[in-house]
Amino acid sequence: MTVSAYTLFSGSSGNSLCISAGGDSILIDAGRSCTAIKNACASVGVDAGTLRAVFVTHEHHDHVSALDVMSRRLCVPVHMTYDSLSHMSDPYDRGCVVPHPIMYTERVGCMTVTSFPTHHDSAASVGYIVDIEGSGVRIGLCTDTGFIDGDMLSLLSTCTHVVLESNHDVEMLRHGPYPFYLKERILSDIGHLSNAAAADASRYMLERGVRSFTLAHLSRDNNTPETAFNTVRRALDEVGKEYSLDVAKRFEPLRVV
Ligand SMILES: [Zn+2]
Ligand SMILES: [Zn+2]
Repeated sequence: MTVSAYTLFSGSSGNSLCISAGGDSILIDAGRSCTAIKNACASVGVDAGTLRAVFVTHEHHDHVSALDVMSRRLCVPVHMTYDSLSHMSDPYDRGCVVPHPIMYTERVGCMTVTSFPTHHDSAASVGYIVDIEGSGVRIGLCTDTGFIDGDMLSLLSTCTHVVLESNHDVEMLRHGPYPFYLKERILSDIGHLSNAAAADASRYMLERGVRSFTLAHLSRDNNTPETAFNTVRRALDEVGKEYSLDVAKRFEPLRVV
């Protein structure tokens, strides 16, 4: 079976992960324009008109901004928590929406998609595990979370590939240009995951069998791809096992699987 997964974009300017298996394709998040999503899908060999579903982590604009146009033009089912749906500002076609509780499992072709709660300052927020039957591939996505709790770590450690937030370098953020309230928000337990926290979580997951890590949702102002990569690489090198590590690109696709 052919399996592929790409981050299409990543960061506060927009997020989307495209997963294809056995002829079916899904997105997790659709946080740029519908045209940008369609073009990015086409560049990785996916016709956006054939998408089977969009799963949404939470209602912040960098995860949902294509939904209005996508739901009208493509009529693709949008899976979103009840709380995130009730806080959506765009007046998109809610007939396409499949609202669900925080803990939720949906089957799309040979993909089983399961949500789990994350810790973020939105009405609700989830990550996803996508298990692809018969392939041995199990992909975890975890971004927009202030910290990773034990349940999240255990669940993500069952994956073969993990896309993990590595939002900021704490010192760059503390000494950077953001106003105090925003720094406090990002650093809080319902903010975003630091490079150091991503490194600790990645080390734990590598010890338990995860072999592929893609760092995502990097801050443009409080991080660099090199800083995130090197912080996590140092932690992973301590484990003494083989792994792959990459950094999702802000405006172009990066292959995860
Ligand atoms: Zn967010
Ligand atoms: Zn975000």
